[in-house]
Amino acid sequence: VKHGGKNSYEMFAHSMNIVSKRRLQIEAHLRHAIDNKELYLVYQPQISLHSGKIIGVEALLRWDSPLLGAVSPVEFIPVAEETGLITPIGEWVLFEACQQAQVWRDEALPPVRMAVNLSVRQFARQNLESVVQSTLLKTGLPVRYLELEITENMLMDDVEGSVDTLHRLKDLGVCLAIDDFGTGYSSLSYLKRFPIDRLKIDRSFITHVTTNTEDASVTQAIIAVAHSLGLSVTAEGVESADQLAFLNENKCEEVQGYYFSKPVSANDIKRLLIVNQGL
Ligand code: C2E
Ligand code: CA
Ligand code: CA
Ligand code: CA
Repeated sequence: VKHGGKNSYEMFAHSMNIVSKRRLQIEAHLRHAIDNKELYLVYQPQISLHSGKIIGVEALLRWDSPLLGAVSPVEFIPVAEETGLITPIGEWVLFEACQQAQVWRDEALPPVRMAVNLSVRQFARQNLESVVQSTLLKTGLPVRYLELEITENMLMDDVEGSVDTLHRLKDLGVCLAIDDFGTGYSSLSYLKRFPIDRLKIDRSFITHVTTNTEDASVTQAIIAVAHSLGLSVTAEGVESADQLAFLNENKCEEVQGYYFSKPVSANDIKRLLIVNQGL
């Protein structure tokens, strides 16, 4: 190490220090986020292209920390995964989402599915289906309204174990979706062994679907594979009328994205459901 001005190693060490400091701060504050009521859910509508109406919502986690400000789930979920904090947080999300879906049912709003994201650790746990079952019992939500989103890479990590876990969830009657489809490395032979209902095409393919022929081809291929396996397809990240038209022409069943709505509060969803225009 040279003396005087900072060399590249020192710069590197300095930036690593900032990264790990931030990580430690997140961990320290996240530890109390549930008890301090700093976590909440927002909901993004999923629209059926068949009816033009809202058919489901995806629950997305938000954290407003009094000390760190709003922290993105892209940043804090990995920390929660590494530290194990994801277990209580994931159970809180599942409960909160099911309870909200049941509140909308009690208010006699048009019925919608509630999609909940599962983390790596949640999916790997032995007692996942009993957690799901007891959450449904506690909230009173009928199982057919719950959809669980599992990423492609989570499934491919341990194919035999995944097939087993998915069957145990499917036996309860839960809807199952593969999230971020196309970004991972699943093979078709595995795909047909998973008892799933839906593929969600990752936003990265939809963004340029009307201008990039490769993205268009991949999107068409995913829809074709899904349909040949009897699965339905949701496209995420739909931001324009052109993208919507492409997906409609190619027989995609459902869409989700800023074109219709950003993720919004439960109250805003209630208003959207009362109007229930969707498109
Ligand atoms: P995801 O499951 O793929 O969720 C979709 C993300 O895309 C959300 O970001 C959503 O706000 C965003 N999005 C939706 N439509 C559009 C669009 O038209 N344009 C653009 N640019 N973005 C759009 P968000 O809410 O920041 O969540 C990011 C990721 O964090 C999620 O990706 C998911 O992997 C994770 N996450 C969020 N909530 C939870 C949770 O409760 N549990 C777990 N395990 N992960 C979660
Ligand atoms: Ca998702
Ligand atoms: Ca996704
Ligand atoms: Ca994604």
